[in-house]
Amino acid sequence: CGIVAYVGQREACPIILKGLKRLEYRGYDSAGVALLNDGELKVFKRKGKVSDLEEFIGNQDTTSHIGIGHTRWATHGEPNDANAHPHYSSSKKIAIIHNGIIENYASLKQHLINKGYEFHSDTDSEVFVNLIEDIRETTKVNLAEAVRLALHEVVGAYAIVVISHDSPTELIAARKGSPLVIGIGEGEYFLASDATPIIEYTKDVVYLNDFEIALIKDGVLDLRTKEDIVQTPYIQKLELEL
Ligand code: GLU
Repeated sequence: CGIVAYVGQREACPIILKGLKRLEYRGYDSAGVALLNDGELKVFKRKGKVSDLEEFIGNQDTTSHIGIGHTRWATHGEPNDANAHPHYSSSKKIAIIHNGIIENYASLKQHLINKGYEFHSDTDSEVFVNLIEDIRETTKVNLAEAVRLALHEVVGAYAIVVISHDSPTELIAARKGSPLVIGIGEGEYFLASDATPIIEYTKDVVYLNDFEIALIKDGVLDLRTKEDIVQTPYIQKLELEL
């Protein structure tokens, strides 16, 4: 339902939680964040409100300059802690947030289970992240390339953001059918499912088109299609006021 992600010099967690609150008007049943720090990938997620998530996080260490957050509107699997996003891959190396529906998740899931992948939720989204991991393991490509190849396997609608503990300065996003906006700041980037969480930080935004993949790495935005054709980002000025 709602997506917020951040990479830059600031603390990621407060920016993401504030952004998720700005998206509360969309309605949701669960909330969560995944944060990368020193190659460690942590996920905090809970059924309920963003305020319940904040309470759950409490005084736990959230130090991080790169992270992803989600508010879920359940389509596959009941609203509970396990089905809340972000979802880890089987090895816990990769985390994903996903808006939308993967229509062919059942056959992909069976294929992955046969290969030994473990699942901890009833969601279609967890299939996506394990598919990315499987492509990465079998073809030895980098994370962005594994995401790009995974887009050729999934049928349905999605806006996704992916992070991995072995690519600690990278955010990878893609969309088809579900909106995703990238806000460009000074050496920092904000991703969200609409501009409301971004507007207080920057007015320069790029709306991702269907079948585009954004790789934000070491402060640089690389945009390409799922056919691997490099695109020039079209930067628009937001005119919304807070
Ligand atoms: N289909 C996913 C799920 O049920 C994502 C739902 C959403 O867009 O929030 O977890």
